[in-house]
Amino acid sequence: MTQTTNSCQYCGSALATTLVDLGLSPLSNSYVPLEQAARPDNMYPLHARVCDSCFLVQVDDVVPADEIFNQDYAYFSSFSQSWLDHCLDFATSTSNRFKLDEDSLVVEIASNDGYLLQYFLERGIRVLGIEPSASVAKVAQSKGIDTRVEFFGKSLSQNMREEGLSPDLICSANVLAHVPDIGDFVAGVTTLLTGDSVYTVEFPHLLNLINLGQFDTIYHEHFTYLSLVAVERIFGDQGLRVFDVEEVPTHGGSLRVYACLSDAAHTETDSVQRVRSKERAAKLHKVDGYLGFEPRVERIRDNLMDYLTEAKAAGRTVVGYGAAAKGNTLLNYAGIGTDLITYVVDKNPAKQNTLLPGSRIPVHGVEMLTTSPPDDILILPWNIKDEVVAQLADLRKSGIRFVTAIPEIEIVE
Ligand SMILES: [Zn+2]
Repeated sequence: MTQTTNSCQYCGSALATTLVDLGLSPLSNSYVPLEQAARPDNMYPLHARVCDSCFLVQVDDVVPADEIFNQDYAYFSSFSQSWLDHCLDFATSTSNRFKLDEDSLVVEIASNDGYLLQYFLERGIRVLGIEPSASVAKVAQSKGIDTRVEFFGKSLSQNMREEGLSPDLICSANVLAHVPDIGDFVAGVTTLLTGDSVYTVEFPHLLNLINLGQFDTIYHEHFTYLSLVAVERIFGDQGLRVFDVEEVPTHGGSLRVYACLSDAAHTETDSVQRVRSKERAAKLHKVDGYLGFEPRVERIRDNLMDYLTEAKAAGRTVVGYGAAAKGNTLLNYAGIGTDLITYVVDKNPAKQNTLLPGSRIPVHGVEMLTTSPPDDILILPWNIKDEVVAQLADLRKSGIRFVTAIPEIEIVE
Protein backbone atom coordinates (compact mmCIF):
# COMPACT_ATOMS: atom_id res chain seq x y z
CA MET A 1 0.00 0.00 0.00
CA THR A 2 1.18 3.50 -0.82
CA GLN A 3 1.83 5.59 2.29
CA THR A 4 -0.41 8.57 2.93
CA THR A 5 1.65 11.58 2.07
CA ASN A 6 -0.80 14.11 3.52
CA SER A 7 0.56 16.72 1.16
CA CYS A 8 -1.43 18.41 -1.58
CA GLN A 9 -1.53 16.49 -4.87
CA TYR A 10 -1.23 19.76 -6.74
CA CYS A 11 0.86 22.27 -4.78
CA GLY A 12 2.58 20.02 -2.23
CA SER A 13 1.48 21.97 0.88
CA ALA A 14 0.79 19.98 4.04
CA LEU A 15 -2.87 18.92 4.33
CA ALA A 16 -4.03 19.95 7.79
CA THR A 17 -7.81 20.28 7.35
CA THR A 18 -10.30 17.41 7.10
CA LEU A 19 -13.45 17.84 5.01
CA VAL A 20 -14.85 14.44 6.00
CA ASP A 21 -13.44 11.11 7.15
CA LEU A 22 -15.62 8.31 5.73
CA GLY A 23 -13.72 5.49 7.41
CA LEU A 24 -12.62 2.34 5.56
CA SER A 25 -14.17 1.61 2.18
CA PRO A 26 -13.52 -0.73 -0.77
CA LEU A 27 -13.04 0.80 -4.23
CA SER A 28 -16.46 2.02 -5.31
CA ASN A 29 -16.33 0.46 -8.77
CA SER A 30 -14.91 -2.93 -7.73
CA TYR A 31 -18.11 -4.94 -8.31
CA VAL A 32 -17.58 -8.51 -7.12
CA PRO A 33 -18.30 -11.31 -9.63
CA LEU A 34 -20.45 -14.04 -8.01
CA GLU A 35 -17.71 -16.66 -8.44
CA GLN A 36 -15.36 -14.47 -6.39
CA ALA A 37 -17.82 -13.91 -3.55
CA ALA A 38 -15.54 -15.66 -1.06
CA ARG A 39 -12.70 -13.22 -1.67
CA PRO A 40 -12.67 -10.36 0.87
CA ASP A 41 -12.77 -6.75 -0.30
CA ASN A 42 -9.59 -4.68 -0.08
CA MET A 43 -10.50 -1.83 2.25
CA TYR A 44 -8.81 1.58 2.20
CA PRO A 45 -9.26 4.75 4.27
CA LEU A 46 -11.59 7.21 2.52
CA HIS A 47 -10.61 10.57 3.89
CA ALA A 48 -11.20 13.89 2.11
CA ARG A 49 -9.10 16.89 3.04
CA VAL A 50 -8.72 20.43 1.75
CA CYS A 51 -5.42 22.15 0.96
CA ASP A 52 -5.17 25.37 2.99
CA SER A 53 -3.03 26.87 0.25
CA CYS A 54 -4.71 26.13 -3.14
CA PHE A 55 -8.11 24.89 -1.80
CA LEU A 56 -8.01 21.70 -3.82
CA VAL A 57 -10.18 19.14 -2.02
CA GLN A 58 -8.72 15.66 -2.38
CA VAL A 59 -8.86 12.17 -0.95
CA ASP A 60 -5.82 10.63 0.69
CA ASP A 61 -3.66 8.86 -1.86
CA VAL A 62 -3.72 5.39 -0.29
CA VAL A 63 -4.80 3.05 -3.10
CA PRO A 64 -2.13 1.60 -5.43
CA ALA A 65 -2.67 3.14 -8.89
CA ASP A 66 -2.88 -0.24 -10.64
CA GLU A 67 -5.84 -1.20 -8.42
CA ILE A 68 -7.72 1.93 -9.43
CA PHE A 69 -7.01 1.69 -13.14
CA ASN A 70 -7.22 -2.10 -13.55
CA GLN A 71 -10.81 -2.53 -12.47
CA ASP A 72 -12.64 -4.82 -14.89
CA TYR A 73 -15.80 -2.78 -14.89
CA ALA A 74 -16.34 -0.61 -17.97
CA TYR A 75 -18.49 2.50 -17.70
CA PHE A 76 -20.53 3.38 -20.77
CA SER A 77 -21.70 6.99 -20.81
CA SER A 78 -24.54 6.27 -23.24
CA PHE A 79 -26.67 4.48 -20.62
CA SER A 80 -28.37 7.67 -19.41
CA GLN A 81 -30.80 9.41 -21.75
CA SER A 82 -30.80 12.67 -19.77
CA TRP A 83 -27.01 12.78 -20.07
CA LEU A 84 -27.23 12.23 -23.85
CA ASP A 85 -29.76 15.07 -24.15
CA HIS A 86 -27.38 17.31 -22.21
CA CYS A 87 -24.55 16.38 -24.60
CA LEU A 88 -26.60 17.09 -27.72
CA ASP A 89 -27.42 20.56 -26.35
CA PHE A 90 -23.76 21.16 -25.63
CA ALA A 91 -22.61 20.08 -29.12
CA THR A 92 -25.24 22.32 -30.71
CA SER A 93 -24.50 25.40 -28.62
CA THR A 94 -20.70 25.19 -28.85
CA SER A 95 -20.79 24.52 -32.61
CA ASN A 96 -22.86 27.68 -33.08
CA ARG A 97 -21.02 29.84 -30.58
CA PHE A 98 -17.50 29.00 -31.80
CA LYS A 99 -18.54 28.65 -35.47
CA LEU A 100 -17.30 25.09 -35.84
CA ASP A 101 -17.59 23.57 -39.31
CA GLU A 102 -16.09 20.81 -41.48
CA ASP A 103 -12.68 22.49 -41.26
CA SER A 104 -12.75 22.38 -37.46
CA LEU A 105 -11.40 19.70 -35.15
CA VAL A 106 -13.02 18.80 -31.84
CA VAL A 107 -10.99 16.67 -29.42
CA GLU A 108 -12.57 15.08 -26.40
CA ILE A 109 -10.46 13.81 -23.52
CA ALA A 110 -11.99 10.70 -21.95
CA SER A 111 -14.34 10.34 -24.90
CA ASN A 112 -15.77 7.06 -23.58
CA ASP A 113 -18.10 5.36 -26.09
CA GLY A 114 -18.42 8.47 -28.25
CA TYR A 115 -21.57 9.67 -26.43
CA LEU A 116 -20.62 13.35 -27.06
CA LEU A 117 -18.45 13.33 -30.19
CA GLN A 118 -21.23 11.56 -32.16
CA TYR A 119 -23.20 14.82 -32.09
CA PHE A 120 -20.30 16.86 -33.51
CA LEU A 121 -19.72 14.17 -36.15
CA GLU A 122 -23.40 14.41 -37.18
CA ARG A 123 -22.76 18.09 -37.94
CA GLY A 124 -19.86 17.17 -40.24
CA ILE A 125 -17.19 18.35 -37.82
CA ARG A 126 -13.95 16.35 -37.57
CA VAL A 127 -13.58 14.64 -34.21
CA LEU A 128 -10.89 12.79 -32.29
CA GLY A 129 -11.47 10.98 -29.01
CA ILE A 130 -8.86 10.11 -26.43
CA GLU A 131 -9.94 7.28 -24.18
CA PRO A 132 -7.75 5.10 -21.93
CA SER A 133 -10.21 2.19 -21.74
CA ALA A 134 -9.84 -0.04 -24.82
CA SER A 135 -13.23 -1.71 -24.38
CA VAL A 136 -15.25 1.51 -24.40
CA ALA A 137 -13.03 3.05 -27.11
CA LYS A 138 -13.92 0.10 -29.34
CA VAL A 139 -17.61 1.00 -29.10
CA ALA A 140 -16.79 4.57 -30.17
CA GLN A 141 -14.69 3.32 -33.10
CA SER A 142 -17.56 1.12 -34.24
CA LYS A 143 -19.68 4.31 -34.51
CA GLY A 144 -17.02 5.83 -36.80
CA ILE A 145 -15.46 8.02 -34.12
CA ASP A 146 -11.70 8.18 -34.48
CA THR A 147 -10.40 7.29 -31.00
CA ARG A 148 -6.90 6.91 -29.54
CA VAL A 149 -6.53 4.52 -26.62
CA GLU A 150 -4.24 6.55 -24.37
CA PHE A 151 -4.04 8.49 -21.12
CA PHE A 152 -4.02 12.24 -21.65
CA GLY A 153 -1.22 14.41 -20.32
CA LYS A 154 1.59 16.66 -21.42
CA SER A 155 3.55 13.92 -23.16
CA LEU A 156 0.60 12.81 -25.38
CA SER A 157 -0.33 16.39 -26.24
CA GLN A 158 3.25 17.12 -27.33
CA ASN A 159 3.07 14.12 -29.67
CA MET A 160 -0.28 15.28 -31.03
CA ARG A 161 1.14 18.72 -31.67
CA GLU A 162 4.11 17.27 -33.54
CA GLU A 163 1.61 15.34 -35.68
CA GLY A 164 0.10 18.68 -36.65
CA LEU A 165 -3.14 18.32 -34.68
CA SER A 166 -4.55 21.68 -33.72
CA PRO A 167 -8.02 21.42 -32.15
CA ASP A 168 -10.46 24.33 -32.26
CA LEU A 169 -12.28 22.90 -29.28
CA ILE A 170 -11.04 20.52 -26.60
CA CYS A 171 -13.70 19.25 -24.27
CA SER A 172 -13.80 17.02 -21.26
CA ALA A 173 -16.57 16.16 -18.86
CA ASN A 174 -16.19 14.47 -15.52
CA VAL A 175 -12.55 13.56 -16.09
CA LEU A 176 -10.56 16.10 -14.06
CA ALA A 177 -11.50 14.39 -10.80
CA HIS A 178 -10.11 11.09 -12.11
CA VAL A 179 -6.74 12.53 -13.09
CA PRO A 180 -3.92 11.57 -10.71
CA ASP A 181 -1.73 14.53 -11.77
CA ILE A 182 -4.04 17.47 -12.45
CA GLY A 183 -1.11 19.85 -13.15
CA ASP A 184 0.25 17.62 -15.94
CA PHE A 185 -3.25 17.20 -17.42
CA VAL A 186 -3.92 20.94 -17.59
CA ALA A 187 -0.41 21.56 -18.95
CA GLY A 188 -1.31 19.07 -21.71
CA VAL A 189 -4.40 21.12 -22.58
CA THR A 190 -2.33 24.30 -22.76
CA THR A 191 0.12 22.56 -25.11
CA LEU A 192 -2.67 21.72 -27.57
CA LEU A 193 -4.44 25.09 -27.59
CA THR A 194 -3.53 27.73 -30.14
CA GLY A 195 -4.84 31.25 -30.81
CA ASP A 196 -8.46 31.56 -29.69
CA SER A 197 -9.19 27.84 -29.46
CA VAL A 198 -11.25 26.82 -26.46
CA TYR A 199 -11.11 24.25 -23.69
CA THR A 200 -14.33 23.30 -21.93
CA VAL A 201 -14.42 21.20 -18.81
CA GLU A 202 -17.33 20.03 -16.75
CA PHE A 203 -17.09 18.86 -13.16
CA PRO A 204 -19.42 18.46 -10.18
CA HIS A 205 -19.30 21.75 -8.30
CA LEU A 206 -17.76 21.46 -4.84
CA LEU A 207 -20.10 24.21 -3.67
CA ASN A 208 -23.06 21.84 -4.20
CA LEU A 209 -21.24 18.90 -2.65
CA ILE A 210 -20.81 20.98 0.50
CA ASN A 211 -24.16 22.81 0.51
CA LEU A 212 -26.25 19.73 -0.34
CA GLY A 213 -24.36 17.13 1.69
CA GLN A 214 -23.36 15.14 -1.41
CA PHE A 215 -20.64 13.23 0.46
CA ASP A 216 -21.44 10.05 -1.50
CA THR A 217 -19.74 11.55 -4.56
CA ILE A 218 -16.48 11.09 -2.63
CA TYR A 219 -14.69 7.88 -3.51
CA HIS A 220 -11.13 6.71 -4.12
CA GLU A 221 -11.46 6.90 -7.91
CA HIS A 222 -12.25 10.62 -7.57
CA PHE A 223 -8.93 12.09 -6.57
CA THR A 224 -10.11 15.72 -6.43
CA TYR A 225 -13.30 17.79 -5.84
CA LEU A 226 -13.27 21.10 -7.61
CA SER A 227 -14.32 24.67 -6.98
CA LEU A 228 -13.84 27.56 -9.38
CA VAL A 229 -11.36 29.03 -6.91
CA ALA A 230 -9.10 25.94 -7.17
CA VAL A 231 -9.59 25.57 -10.94
CA GLU A 232 -8.70 29.21 -11.65
CA ARG A 233 -5.57 28.86 -9.55
CA ILE A 234 -4.44 25.68 -11.35
CA PHE A 235 -5.42 26.92 -14.83
CA GLY A 236 -3.68 30.25 -14.19
CA ASP A 237 -0.45 28.48 -13.21
CA GLN A 238 -0.58 26.60 -16.54
CA GLY A 239 -1.22 29.65 -18.74
CA LEU A 240 -5.00 29.32 -19.06
CA ARG A 241 -7.73 31.84 -18.32
CA VAL A 242 -11.39 31.13 -17.51
CA PHE A 243 -13.65 33.35 -19.65
CA ASP A 244 -17.08 31.80 -19.08
CA VAL A 245 -18.77 29.43 -16.70
CA GLU A 246 -22.22 27.85 -16.72
CA GLU A 247 -23.98 26.20 -13.83
CA VAL A 248 -25.53 22.99 -15.22
CA PRO A 249 -27.77 20.49 -13.39
CA THR A 250 -25.82 17.27 -14.12
CA HIS A 251 -24.44 15.21 -11.24
CA GLY A 252 -26.28 17.26 -8.65
CA GLY A 253 -24.99 20.58 -9.97
CA SER A 254 -21.89 20.95 -12.09
CA LEU A 255 -19.84 23.79 -13.48
CA ARG A 256 -19.02 23.96 -17.16
CA VAL A 257 -15.94 26.11 -17.46
CA TYR A 258 -14.72 27.69 -20.71
CA ALA A 259 -11.02 28.47 -20.78
CA CYS A 260 -8.55 29.80 -23.33
CA LEU A 261 -4.89 30.73 -23.50
CA SER A 262 -4.26 33.73 -21.22
CA ASP A 263 -3.61 36.05 -24.21
CA ALA A 264 -6.60 34.88 -26.32
CA ALA A 265 -9.30 37.35 -27.41
CA HIS A 266 -12.29 35.91 -25.46
CA THR A 267 -13.78 38.45 -23.06
CA GLU A 268 -14.80 37.35 -19.60
CA THR A 269 -18.56 37.00 -19.09
CA ASP A 270 -20.41 38.25 -16.00
CA SER A 271 -21.17 34.69 -14.96
CA VAL A 272 -17.52 34.11 -14.01
CA GLN A 273 -17.73 36.86 -11.40
CA ARG A 274 -21.14 35.58 -10.28
CA VAL A 275 -19.81 32.09 -9.49
CA ARG A 276 -16.69 33.55 -7.86
CA SER A 277 -18.97 35.61 -5.60
CA LYS A 278 -21.09 32.58 -4.67
CA GLU A 279 -17.98 30.67 -3.67
CA ARG A 280 -16.66 33.61 -1.66
CA ALA A 281 -20.01 33.89 0.13
CA ALA A 282 -19.61 30.21 1.08
CA LYS A 283 -16.03 31.01 2.18
CA LEU A 284 -14.51 28.45 -0.19
CA HIS A 285 -11.45 30.72 -0.46
CA LYS A 286 -10.82 30.20 3.28
CA VAL A 287 -10.50 27.16 5.53
CA ASP A 288 -13.76 28.18 7.30
CA GLY A 289 -15.84 27.13 4.30
CA TYR A 290 -14.84 23.48 4.77
CA LEU A 291 -15.43 23.09 8.50
CA GLY A 292 -18.72 21.72 9.81
CA PHE A 293 -19.31 19.38 6.85
CA GLU A 294 -18.59 16.15 8.72
CA PRO A 295 -21.34 16.54 11.38
CA ARG A 296 -23.85 17.18 8.56
CA VAL A 297 -22.74 13.97 6.85
CA GLU A 298 -23.24 12.05 10.10
CA ARG A 299 -26.77 13.43 10.36
CA ILE A 300 -27.63 12.28 6.81
CA ARG A 301 -26.32 8.80 7.65
CA ASP A 302 -28.30 8.64 10.91
CA ASN A 303 -31.53 9.70 9.18
CA LEU A 304 -31.07 7.02 6.51
CA MET A 305 -30.50 4.36 9.18
CA ASP A 306 -33.62 5.47 11.04
CA TYR A 307 -35.68 5.19 7.85
CA LEU A 308 -34.29 1.71 7.00
CA THR A 309 -34.66 0.25 10.49
CA GLU A 310 -38.21 1.61 10.78
CA ALA A 311 -39.09 0.12 7.38
CA LYS A 312 -37.69 -3.24 8.46
CA ALA A 313 -39.58 -3.13 11.76
CA ALA A 314 -42.78 -2.41 9.82
CA GLY A 315 -42.13 -5.42 7.55
CA ARG A 316 -41.50 -3.30 4.48
CA THR A 317 -38.97 -4.51 1.89
CA VAL A 318 -36.50 -1.91 0.63
CA VAL A 319 -34.38 -2.40 -2.49
CA GLY A 320 -31.94 -0.09 -4.26
CA TYR A 321 -32.06 1.35 -7.77
CA GLY A 322 -28.75 2.06 -9.53
CA ALA A 323 -25.51 0.26 -8.66
CA ALA A 324 -23.68 3.58 -8.88
CA ALA A 325 -20.31 4.27 -7.32
CA LYS A 326 -21.91 6.94 -5.15
CA GLY A 327 -24.31 4.36 -3.74
CA ASN A 328 -21.36 2.25 -2.65
CA THR A 329 -19.83 5.13 -0.70
CA LEU A 330 -23.15 5.70 1.07
CA LEU A 331 -23.85 2.01 1.82
CA ASN A 332 -20.35 1.32 3.11
CA TYR A 333 -20.09 4.46 5.21
CA ALA A 334 -23.45 3.67 6.83
CA GLY A 335 -22.64 -0.06 7.16
CA ILE A 336 -25.77 -1.15 5.26
CA GLY A 337 -26.00 -4.75 4.01
CA THR A 338 -28.59 -7.23 2.74
CA ASP A 339 -30.37 -7.16 6.11
CA LEU A 340 -31.67 -3.68 5.23
CA ILE A 341 -31.54 -3.57 1.40
CA THR A 342 -32.47 -6.89 -0.22
CA TYR A 343 -31.09 -6.26 -3.68
CA VAL A 344 -30.12 -3.49 -6.09
CA VAL A 345 -31.11 -3.24 -9.75
CA ASP A 346 -29.13 -1.65 -12.57
CA LYS A 347 -29.71 -1.26 -16.31
CA ASN A 348 -26.08 -1.91 -17.15
CA PRO A 349 -25.62 -5.64 -17.95
CA ALA A 350 -21.93 -5.40 -16.90
CA LYS A 351 -23.02 -4.77 -13.32
CA GLN A 352 -25.80 -7.36 -13.19
CA ASN A 353 -25.10 -10.66 -11.42
CA THR A 354 -22.38 -9.11 -9.30
CA LEU A 355 -22.25 -8.10 -5.65
CA LEU A 356 -21.71 -4.52 -4.56
CA PRO A 357 -18.25 -4.07 -3.05
CA GLY A 358 -18.27 -4.05 0.75
CA SER A 359 -22.02 -4.23 1.34
CA ARG A 360 -22.21 -7.39 -0.84
CA ILE A 361 -25.76 -6.58 -1.89
CA PRO A 362 -26.63 -8.54 -5.08
CA VAL A 363 -27.17 -6.60 -8.32
CA HIS A 364 -29.96 -7.70 -10.67
CA GLY A 365 -31.56 -6.45 -13.87
CA VAL A 366 -34.41 -3.93 -13.59
CA GLU A 367 -37.01 -6.68 -14.33
CA MET A 368 -36.41 -7.95 -10.76
CA LEU A 369 -38.58 -5.03 -9.58
CA THR A 370 -41.54 -6.71 -11.31
CA THR A 371 -40.74 -10.36 -10.54
CA SER A 372 -39.90 -9.69 -6.89
CA PRO A 373 -41.54 -6.34 -6.10
CA PRO A 374 -40.42 -4.38 -3.04
CA ASP A 375 -42.39 -1.87 -0.93
CA ASP A 376 -39.83 0.92 -1.31
CA ILE A 377 -37.09 1.68 -3.86
CA LEU A 378 -34.14 3.68 -2.57
CA ILE A 379 -32.70 5.52 -5.58
CA LEU A 380 -28.95 5.56 -4.93
CA PRO A 381 -27.95 7.90 -7.81
CA TRP A 382 -30.24 10.70 -6.53
CA ASN A 383 -29.09 12.90 -9.44
CA ILE A 384 -31.26 10.84 -11.85
CA LYS A 385 -34.24 10.56 -9.48
CA ASP A 386 -36.76 12.28 -11.78
CA GLU A 387 -35.72 10.10 -14.72
CA VAL A 388 -36.05 6.91 -12.65
CA VAL A 389 -39.43 7.83 -11.18
CA ALA A 390 -40.72 8.64 -14.69
CA GLN A 391 -39.40 5.37 -16.14
CA LEU A 392 -40.95 3.32 -13.35
CA ALA A 393 -44.30 5.15 -13.31
CA ASP A 394 -46.18 1.81 -13.47
CA LEU A 395 -44.54 0.61 -10.29
CA ARG A 396 -45.39 3.88 -8.60
CA LYS A 397 -49.04 3.43 -9.62
CA SER A 398 -48.95 -0.05 -8.07
CA GLY A 399 -48.10 1.56 -4.71
CA ILE A 400 -44.30 1.25 -4.58
CA ARG A 401 -42.68 4.29 -2.96
CA PHE A 402 -39.48 5.97 -4.19
CA VAL A 403 -36.95 7.24 -1.66
CA THR A 404 -33.79 9.36 -1.82
CA ALA A 405 -31.44 9.95 1.11
CA ILE A 406 -29.44 13.00 0.06
CA PRO A 407 -29.59 15.88 0.99
CA GLU A 408 -32.29 14.44 3.26
CA ILE A 409 -34.78 11.57 3.30
CA GLU A 410 -37.45 12.24 0.72
CA ILE A 411 -40.26 9.82 -0.07
CA VAL A 412 -42.26 9.97 -3.32
CA GLU A 413 -45.57 8.16 -2.77
ZN1 LIG B 1 -2.61 22.67 -2.66
